[in-house]
Amino acid sequence: MTYHPAHSGILIVLLGLTSLAFGSLTGRPSGGADKALMQKARLRSRYAGQARQILKEVPLIDGHNDTPGQYRHRVNNHLDAIDFAGDTGQLDPPMHTDLPRLRAGGIGGQFWSVYVSTNLKGAEAVQVTLEQIDLVHRLVARYPDDLELALTADDIVRIHGQGKIASLIDVEGGHSINNSLAVLRQQYRAGARCMTITHSANTDWAGAATTPPEHRGLSPFGQEVIREMNRLGMLVDLSHVSPETMHDALDVTEAPVIFSHSSARALCDHPRNVPDDVLKRVKQNNGVVMVTFVTEFVSEEVRQYRAAEKAEGARLKALFLHDPDAVEAGLAVWREAHPAPPVPLAIIADHIDHVRKVAGIDHVGIGSDFDGISATPVGLEDVSTYPALLAELLRRGYSEDEVKKVAGLNLLRVMRQAEKAAANLQRKTAPSDALIEELDKELKK
Ligand SMILES: [Zn+2]
Repeated sequence: MTYHPAHSGILIVLLGLTSLAFGSLTGRPSGGADKALMQKARLRSRYAGQARQILKEVPLIDGHNDTPGQYRHRVNNHLDAIDFAGDTGQLDPPMHTDLPRLRAGGIGGQFWSVYVSTNLKGAEAVQVTLEQIDLVHRLVARYPDDLELALTADDIVRIHGQGKIASLIDVEGGHSINNSLAVLRQQYRAGARCMTITHSANTDWAGAATTPPEHRGLSPFGQEVIREMNRLGMLVDLSHVSPETMHDALDVTEAPVIFSHSSARALCDHPRNVPDDVLKRVKQNNGVVMVTFVTEFVSEEVRQYRAAEKAEGARLKALFLHDPDAVEAGLAVWREAHPAPPVPLAIIADHIDHVRKVAGIDHVGIGSDFDGISATPVGLEDVSTYPALLAELLRRGYSEDEVKKVAGLNLLRVMRQAEKAAANLQRKTAPSDALIEELDKELKK
């Protein structure tokens, strides 16, 4: 909802009535409770107003959004088959992202993921990635009053200053380059300014977080990929990788790294999250962890719920070997009996608090994963809701300057430093012509 004094007046009256009813039911005097509630509502609208003002001054930069994947899976990348200027929340199933809600959320910069399935192998993964990059270019060109492609930190600041949303491209998973540094360079030329080193599966040269029991880091070729990304000025994104890959990449990189959509492992023991020892290294590296809204990664309760759901799925699969419909029906019954625990917005703020505590306020950001997730926290249902999160940080005592860092200034700093490192490296080194067959010869045996 857009803040409006009239609305907040109605809200206060409604809250007053509720507390009046509650007070008379319980037989306790309601005057004090009334006052407290009104005070709370007043504070809430003050923080929301402050958050909106902050987003006019600095761009809110979200590290991860999967809208391009929605276009692919819903409408085969036919741009006009989804009205991005309309309400995509009305679609079935609803989307989280469209221009009116991006505007309502006060967003100034978005990394659009050009994710392709890790089931795609070799050249096919490269082709589909290029199709997704093309989709982002077409989307941006289709809505020139709202979106503009950003290739540098200065671009983001300029585009935000012009009242538009800076659009960045993130290649989500090293499988997209098919073991080729030449492909990496061409994707950079096509506008990609970030690559997530793996998705959910290992690549030939890097270990993923969610491919147990192997705990692989970077191969020699993987290290060369990091060096080449540094030379290009492409952000090294360590979301999705194994802790071993996180450490290996931090050993090699000459630029700050990012985690585009990961939260704190100390609060929710999911392998997609960042352990405290890595958070400490991110501080030394001057990087940024962009806390994600994925309920399974932020709530220990939901993580365990998902694990139980998975176990039930496996049990049903074993029971109904050749009947996927029976498995689905069984799972539906299970879900009906076991609804997912709700995740309050405050949990996301807890993760931001934790990264701030361990790595510092200069190393935390936001990476929602909207349109890449089916469940969302309560209060963070779509891209219109960012001000509510920033308001919660203000309520917790974050200063305006600190909230600005979380919103986007930290990411801008990281990007500027990566650009500087690239300029230095380009003076000293030529593009790498290393081949995986040569560098990883020993591993292939
Ligand atoms: Zn992801």
